[in-house]
Amino acid sequence: MSNVVSTVFEHARVPYGDDGRLVRGIIARCGAPNCEAAVPLPVNVMANGRGTDSNIEWQFIARKLEQKGWRIGKTATAHRCPKCFNAAKFAAIRKSEEKPVVTKIEPPLQVVQENARVMTREDRRIVFEKLNEVYIDGKVGYGRGWTDEKVATDLGVPRAWVRVIREENFGDEVGNEEIRDHIMQAGKLLLDIKALRQPFDEAQRLFALADKIEKSLSEIQKVLK
Ligand SMILES: [Zn+2]
Repeated sequence: MSNVVSTVFEHARVPYGDDGRLVRGIIARCGAPNCEAAVPLPVNVMANGRGTDSNIEWQFIARKLEQKGWRIGKTATAHRCPKCFNAAKFAAIRKSEEKPVVTKIEPPLQVVQENARVMTREDRRIVFEKLNEVYIDGKVGYGRGWTDEKVATDLGVPRAWVRVIREENFGDEVGNEEIRDHIMQAGKLLLDIKALRQPFDEAQRLFALADKIEKSLSEIQKVLK
């Protein structure tokens, strides 16, 4: 199966025919939040042929599933089961009835999809394995140089995912040995700087005093003239 199809659908062996024997196929999952609906579809690889345009393959799958009332998107999170698709349709109709005049400005599709990205089991596994590698323990926290941000950047996943998996399975982010080192060193440095400042504070007090004396001296001199 083509790459495009394999990122949009899940490969699986699915029941086929009256005897329900398992054949190669795909599973499409509803991308609506909190919906678990999924639909299997046998896809005969040989019949589609090697070198078949991936778009044609996608269209074949989409057509089959749309006959069953599904809405099939171009990304894995864009699919909608019949129930969610209908709900969305009704919501859209209600919305257009409520505000018939307002021009709708659609946010860029990609942004919407990025925000709607839900952590799959595979995502959780990948984040978990990375944390397992770079997080030392609940006391020490992250190993040197690692933070939620760094893990997220390293894996190319939202930072919130890293935070969720870390909090569920590991511990605080700020157990970080390095951060504690920094805090300790900064504390020492601050004390040194304060010690250095003391003579200056004293000098400043004397300068202010000198100004006062100078002023009163000149006033006395005026009187004595
Ligand atoms: Zn659904």
